Amino acid sequence: MTEPPQAPTAAQQAWRELTDQIRLHRAAYYLRDAPVIADGEYDALIRQLEALEARYPVLVTPDSPTQTVGAPPVTDFTPVRHREPLLSLDNAFNLGDLTAWAGRIEREVGSQMLGCEAKIDGLAVNLTYVDGHLVRGATRGDGRVGEDVTPNIHTIPTIPLRLATPSPPKVLEVRGEVYIAVADFERLNREMAAAERPLFANPRNAAAGSLRQKNPETTAQRPLSLLIHGIGALEWDDAVPHPEWSTQTESYASLREWGLPVPEDRILAADIEQVWDAIVERGKHRHDGAFEIDGMVIKVDDFAVQRTLGATSRAPRWAIAFKYPPEEVTTKLIDIRVQVGRTGRVTPFAVMDPVRVAGSTVRFATLHNRGEVERKGVLIGDTVIVRKAGDVIPEVVAPVVDLRQGDEREFTMPTHCPSCGAALAPAKQGDADLRCPNAEFCRAQIVERIVHLGSRGCLDIEALGYETAVALADPDAGRPEGAESEAAAPVLTNEADIFWLSAEALRDVEVWRADRDGRMERRLYFWSKPAKAKPSRPTQNTLLLIDQLAAARSRPLWRVLVALSIRHVGPTAARALGAAFGSLEAIRKATQAQLATVDGVGPVIAASIVDWFEVPWHRAICERWEAAGVAASQGDAPAVKRTLAGLTVVVTGTLSGFSRDGAKEAIIERGGKAASSVSKRTDYVVVGSGAGSKADKARELGRPILDEAGFEKLLAGGPDALN
Ligand SMILES: [Zn+2]
Repeated sequence: MTEPPQAPTAAQQAWRELTDQIRLHRAAYYLRDAPVIADGEYDALIRQLEALEARYPVLVTPDSPTQTVGAPPVTDFTPVRHREPLLSLDNAFNLGDLTAWAGRIEREVGSQMLGCEAKIDGLAVNLTYVDGHLVRGATRGDGRVGEDVTPNIHTIPTIPLRLATPSPPKVLEVRGEVYIAVADFERLNREMAAAERPLFANPRNAAAGSLRQKNPETTAQRPLSLLIHGIGALEWDDAVPHPEWSTQTESYASLREWGLPVPEDRILAADIEQVWDAIVERGKHRHDGAFEIDGMVIKVDDFAVQRTLGATSRAPRWAIAFKYPPEEVTTKLIDIRVQVGRTGRVTPFAVMDPVRVAGSTVRFATLHNRGEVERKGVLIGDTVIVRKAGDVIPEVVAPVVDLRQGDEREFTMPTHCPSCGAALAPAKQGDADLRCPNAEFCRAQIVERIVHLGSRGCLDIEALGYETAVALADPDAGRPEGAESEAAAPVLTNEADIFWLSAEALRDVEVWRADRDGRMERRLYFWSKPAKAKPSRPTQNTLLLIDQLAAARSRPLWRVLVALSIRHVGPTAARALGAAFGSLEAIRKATQAQLATVDGVGPVIAASIVDWFEVPWHRAICERWEAAGVAASQGDAPAVKRTLAGLTVVVTGTLSGFSRDGAKEAIIERGGKAASSVSKRTDYVVVGSGAGSKADKARELGRPILDEAGFEKLLAGGPDALN
């Protein structure tokens, strides 16, 4: 057999440029209904591409425009490296932080003009224009590598496909936030409600979800907008006259002329007092504008000064993001109910009149336990203060006692499980928490265990969310009082049969849902409703669930152990057990003493494991899982040598070859301990770029310091490899 002829680099380059251009025009035509070139020009591009591919057949890929004529492009989110990294910004939370930042700048480069821009809570993107044409749109990703979402970016009407200038830069990267304006968000959610689809929690989630749609036609229907806030790579053709931008202000003026949306209500401040005035003034109106803002970004305006100040590995020194403090709002506490957790723990939570706080609507907030309710002194019927910082869970702060009417009532902890009716009791004398002891049959606990096993740190089954777990194991949840229909039997009576589910078995599952008038009715969950001439069929999410369950069977043993919900067995103990025993079978047969000798396990966890396996229905779960091919063995991952057994390693700063979690995982996998602070007991401190006080501490204590190359040697061969 002969090798297929390689295409010369120039031909590859020409092919890429042609396909990029054709895809762009196709998107403009199909998705935006706004062709930017005449049909004849488009046909000429296609003919050029066909000629090129005829000459070098090796270039023909299944997704080449010549192979997919007429079809809109479908993105597969391939990773794409940004030409210049998208750094994040350091945060300031008060005037003190800002003054300190401005002071450092003034000492280094003298007083500077500072631009103040609204900070949108959106999704950061990087757009690449080549010779004035938009050729690529990518998400921020980790700042260096993002996901290619070009076809989706093409559908956003405010993003120009071609810059409105006769002499554009050869290459221009612009950075911005994709967002959904408040009014558009409300309209979108009304449409979702009318289509009986789940609502978006806040504009940011809606924007992120919309931008990452596999089908750009869906993105095209979402009201996305863009605001540019910076420039990455920039290359000019020196033969062409072009503007010399000396400040951010000047660059924004050009970008605006070229049709790019830049901040319109930016303020230039001469000092930090003026900056603070702008922040305070804007803060009063942060919910009045077209979009939700969560802070202000302050930037040194002068580009030359920006370059002098430079950046740490993580953030530029010439900019800082001020974050507005968490907001507090008041609302009515309608009721205090209890929920039953994965281990049977019963916790009260607040049911409130829906209220908007920090960009999303809040209805529920946890109250942790009986003691917390008493400590906060909240009564059912109270007006309460609710707080939420960013994405953090909403919290009831306190009641507004002055607004009491006299008909508020105290919360009493129920004596019986609201899900299964079992009598609640503390797990042992003196525990603050009450528990439902009915772990085997309590549907609330079963639902929580199923949600847990599908979670990211466990078997990572994305399609298995809370609502899906309810539909599988507790489909009668939400039954209104006096409903006449028969109680439905759940498809799963516990987690034993979860890997045996088929789409067919889910055909008739119904759950309770409110109709448009708020009346509860039963509705199919996993299959679509049969319509005229259209038979019922499994929904997209159902097919995804079945696929993902199949894939989850080959997850490593430690994840399976965590998925079993054995008390005290978290990822760390599970990894150690997995490495030491190699199979579920071996762990089940091990004695308490054998288990306790494993590094990182100890007597408490060992006892908990032995107790767990003594319960017959627990063993039945393992048997059904194993019969389905789950945790057959440690899996096919190559065994990692325990080169770091007994060693404590601290990683600080940024490494180029490891993410923060990746470095941690590499240490733990090899039997080491990944600590977060440096002490005399630390064996090695790995110092990446931008490391701060931990590196200083390591020097102070005389602990051995490694760079990334040293770290790699240590991982591969242990301490001996360093000599
Ligand atoms: Zn119960």
